[in-house]
Amino acid sequence: MAKYTGPVCRMCRREGEKLFLKGERCYTSKCSIERREGGPGQHGKGRQQFSDYKVQLRAKQKVRRSYGILERKFRDYFQVAAKSKGVTGTELLVQLETRLDNIVYRLGFGTSRAHARQVVNHGHMKVNGKRVNIPSYRVKVGDTVEVSEKARENVTIAAAVSLGESRSIPEWLTLDRDQFRGTVVALPNREQMPQSYQEQLIVELYSK
Ligand code: SF4
Repeated sequence: MAKYTGPVCRMCRREGEKLFLKGERCYTSKCSIERREGGPGQHGKGRQQFSDYKVQLRAKQKVRRSYGILERKFRDYFQVAAKSKGVTGTELLVQLETRLDNIVYRLGFGTSRAHARQVVNHGHMKVNGKRVNIPSYRVKVGDTVEVSEKARENVTIAAAVSLGESRSIPEWLTLDRDQFRGTVVALPNREQMPQSYQEQLIVELYSK
């Protein structure tokens, strides 16, 4: 599957806020958002004009890039959300939040979602005791997610766990850090998901 291989900090500068794509660096003064003003490119610091379309597009790109999802897959998530009985925008975010790679990141077993995806891809995670190496795997309420015994010595996972100690865990998850294990105790409600996302604008964009 094709994936974005360009400079990731550029994406944060384009969206005008931290998307936390680089792990530990994002929490230090080396973060590009803190060091450089304005968007990327020659006209990054210039005054920008925003049409409705551009505002909707930026809202979608921010969410899509935060979770590291390609456009086609993101649209698939939207279509599933649109067919569900709930509020489309919220359902879209719930699907993204309950991806296995996101939960690994939220529990602090990955320094970023990209790292969490790598941890899953390498077969280091178990769901309900069974190895799962699919980052998009949808985790359900009651599922336990844990680092496999062998991978608990892994240096990058240990660094993530150490970094994660300073981060809070969402209320819909519980974490037993000593056992490298977390549980999904509920689906996230809108208040428990990032407040800077404007999912209604994504719905408007895709409903044209
Ligand atoms: Fe974004 Fe992290 Fe780069 Fe800062 S360091 S611009 S938060 S990816």
